[in-house]
Amino acid sequence: MKRGLVALVFLASAVKAADTVKLSVDLTSAPRHLIHATMKIPVAAGPLVLRYPKWLPGEHGPTGPIKDLTGIFVKANGKDIGWTRDPKDMFAFRVEVPPGTTEIEASLDLLVPTETEGFSSGASASSKLALLSWNQVVLYPADKKGNEINYEAELTVPAGWAIGTSLPYHAGQGATTIRFDPVTLTTLIDSPVLAGEYMRTDFLDARPDRRVVLDMAADAPASLAIPADVLEGYRRLVKEADALFGVRHFDSYHFLLTLSDRVSHFGLEHHQSSDDRVRERSFADPDQKVFLLGLLPHEYVHSWNGKFRRPADLMPDDFAAPIDSNLLWVYEGLTQYLGWVLSARSGLRTIPQDLEDLAEAAADLDARGGRAWRSLEDTATAAQLLYETEDAWRGWRRDTDFYNEGTLIWLEADVTIRKLTKGARSLDDFCKRFHGGGSGHPEVKPYGFGDVVADLNAVAAYDWAGFLKERINRRSAGAPLGGIEGGGWKLTYADKRSEALKSREEVLDTVDVRYSIGLLLDKAGTIVDVIPDSNAWKQGVAPGMSLVAVNNRAYTKHVLRDAIAATNGTTRPIKLLLKNDDYFREIPVDVKGGERYPAMTRATSGEDLIGAILAPKTK
Ligand SMILES: [Zn+2]
Repeated sequence: MKRGLVALVFLASAVKAADTVKLSVDLTSAPRHLIHATMKIPVAAGPLVLRYPKWLPGEHGPTGPIKDLTGIFVKANGKDIGWTRDPKDMFAFRVEVPPGTTEIEASLDLLVPTETEGFSSGASASSKLALLSWNQVVLYPADKKGNEINYEAELTVPAGWAIGTSLPYHAGQGATTIRFDPVTLTTLIDSPVLAGEYMRTDFLDARPDRRVVLDMAADAPASLAIPADVLEGYRRLVKEADALFGVRHFDSYHFLLTLSDRVSHFGLEHHQSSDDRVRERSFADPDQKVFLLGLLPHEYVHSWNGKFRRPADLMPDDFAAPIDSNLLWVYEGLTQYLGWVLSARSGLRTIPQDLEDLAEAAADLDARGGRAWRSLEDTATAAQLLYETEDAWRGWRRDTDFYNEGTLIWLEADVTIRKLTKGARSLDDFCKRFHGGGSGHPEVKPYGFGDVVADLNAVAAYDWAGFLKERINRRSAGAPLGGIEGGGWKLTYADKRSEALKSREEVLDTVDVRYSIGLLLDKAGTIVDVIPDSNAWKQGVAPGMSLVAVNNRAYTKHVLRDAIAATNGTTRPIKLLLKNDDYFREIPVDVKGGERYPAMTRATSGEDLIGAILAPKTK
């Protein structure tokens, strides 16, 4: 906290006192899905444009929830002075400030959606909790960048609610109004607040100048019962990240973990916190737990990779300007890889569980027919479109593949460094170089493609530009499996589902038989996706159709799996009765040798480099 205050004084003094907006946010009606905000903005007389943040860091898209902004009033000296929207920019509001006015008051209501689709602009509140993303409740003068204006915020919460946030604040015991220290708009938007009636706080590193905190809110107290081994895994995650990067770039860090079936489910990184929203029984239900375990390691890595080191075209200071996200295979892809590594090193996942996760990702990417037309780099460049697409046709469309394919590419880079240096160096050395240095406080060090290549070359001389370009620009069948094979393993297929797949199916409500007949379904039998060129695809099965019966028996996931298993050793197809719009059709589908699920198998020769990568680096 002490170091936090020092850093904030520095940030506050970077702008003139006159540029401080006083912001009051009222969460007392969050349980009825409405948040009210009022701000006092210093102004000069004449025309003024107020903006609502549009492009949000970490969401990589124009996702500010402008549709849900209502109740907008602008007053000068207590009198309503009105506003008009820029007809060519839905996020800009024009105001004429009367002569002699030095401050205006703007107020607004945010309607909080109840749909659990979408990221931070989706559902964020329930009867018992709320996650406040400040970008959703602020307006700012259009001529200011995020670091050129300060916000001094206060927040009122329902009686009996507590909060968790990385934003320093003052509040008495049991206070319902919390006053925050002034920070720049950029820092404010980067510092969400989790509030709730049922909250729990665990220190993962309790030292005052090194604090790492897990703040959880749930819809019922029982859901806060985090298993002891998972809590210990999170504590070891902090130690393993220290061993990997060598330095922290935050004053304190808060995992803000929401456990609720009433909110959207995702993780959103911030420099000193992460907004992680998962299903209510993620800890209570062992089947759901496995799926959750990789999330917090990913978000924590972002404090280094994505926040401290950030692609130069993804700078956070202008919430109105479009972004160039072509380096997301570093920003997200390297984060996904390091999160996968730290999940095992911290003991959150066992090495077999981590390998199962890798098998799932590799098989999924290997089967994507869309590789024929779309490069990995285009999935990054087009991320602002792809985050918004449905699951239907994912195999042919390709979607945000830069996450998992990033894992494969960075694994191959890690294995390559280890082989080039005969085990003397690894991607850990790259991380200490690329993500190290700095002051230990929040700051941003931008990079480009050339900086990534230069630091790889400093660790082990190689044609890294060629290595990376070949993999991100390739348009051909087959995922890049060189890291798995070079690491001493093979992607194979087994007749049993892995723990990772069972947990994924449980949480995402799916039935995955993609590698036997080509279909991903939801539990009700609606076809979610069809693998291009699979047997089902060749028979004309498409997303949106419903599977009604299998071999004349009404569909359930067990009926389908049993029918697939029974084909093992035969050439007999299964018969699928499908409903397409209002018509029924029965089709035969050949099965590839019974049930078939991704697995990882140790190669008969070669060193187990993946085992070395996943081994803990701390005691
Ligand atoms: Zn991420």
